[in-house]
Amino acid sequence: MATATLTIDLDAVALNWRALDRLTGPEVQTAAVVKADAYGLGVTRVARSLAGAGARRFFVACAEEGAAVRQALGPGPQIALLSGHMSGDTEMIHDLDLTPMLTSLDQITRHLEALPGHAFGVQLDTGMNRLGVEMLEWQAVAPILIEAGPELLLSHLACSDEPDHPMNAVQLAAFHAMTDGTGLPRSLASTGGILLGPRFHFDLTRPGVGMYGGLPFPSAQPVVRLSLPVIQTREVEPGESVGYGCTWTAERPSIIATVAGGYADGLPRTLSSRAQLWDGDTPCPLVGRVSMDLITVDITDLPEVPKTLDILGPHQTVDALADAAGTIGYELLTALGTRYLRRYLEPRA
Ligand SMILES: *Cc1c(COP(=O)(O)O)cnc(C)c1O
Repeated sequence: MATATLTIDLDAVALNWRALDRLTGPEVQTAAVVKADAYGLGVTRVARSLAGAGARRFFVACAEEGAAVRQALGPGPQIALLSGHMSGDTEMIHDLDLTPMLTSLDQITRHLEALPGHAFGVQLDTGMNRLGVEMLEWQAVAPILIEAGPELLLSHLACSDEPDHPMNAVQLAAFHAMTDGTGLPRSLASTGGILLGPRFHFDLTRPGVGMYGGLPFPSAQPVVRLSLPVIQTREVEPGESVGYGCTWTAERPSIIATVAGGYADGLPRTLSSRAQLWDGDTPCPLVGRVSMDLITVDITDLPEVPKTLDILGPHQTVDALADAAGTIGYELLTALGTRYLRRYLEPRA
């Protein structure tokens, strides 16, 4: 069958979460960010594995994603919404016991009016200028709001993947200025922030990409393997070209494998003639353009035609492939398509 297989190692996800958890002190809680269908890997299976590993707080982008996590985990674990309390979400927030991380004064008003007494957190803008209550607004509302008992004050770092970036210290100072003396639980660090060290850890960390095997967590265990089936091979003479636009021309008698997988499956077109696929330990260059459903690979140097070729795996991580495509691991992971057969390797008990 010409279906590509995406293998997701849930044991590696759990190991990575535990490794990130160990990087912070015992008094620091480690949550798990499972937004965007757990970075494209399947939130039901991923959230259950993380709960099994000990995660008790989960962050998602929006209420619909929160519903999927609640469905997967049942009552108990906290599910926090990074988009806060959007209009129209009140019923879901209430019925599914979701915890909005409020992003603005409007949201604070909406939440306290619609669901008084329902758990919430507050996002503070310490310089990223994307979401969150700003310094002056916060100074105005903090006295009243602290009375209402937010579960968490959180902010997000713009440059945590660059340890030497001066913005990290700027945001850390702003976060202290906004939250010192409140006595409330605080959270500043995602994966990158955890690696910046204890000053950034506060009470709760929120790793995402590191759990899924991606940078900036350099010692992450790889989580995904993507094997694409070879569906045809042909001999190509010197001077003949391959694929749309005739962008690659054979310089020697070549054997070209046509492989099922293309940009409709989340393999960026910018990989054209720039990536390798692997037969075991042997790299084979992708030649010509990536098309919607197919890519073409030079397998001339292989002793025999393989059934499949790996585009993600031990030899080519998500970040390496993303780099070849001119993007980042986050984007590559979250774009992985729906046509793959997904195989989950369960955590070893
Ligand atoms: C996505 C996100 C995270 C997780 O970030 P990673 O870099 O994947 O660890 C944490 N906090 C917020 C607010 C986010 O949007």
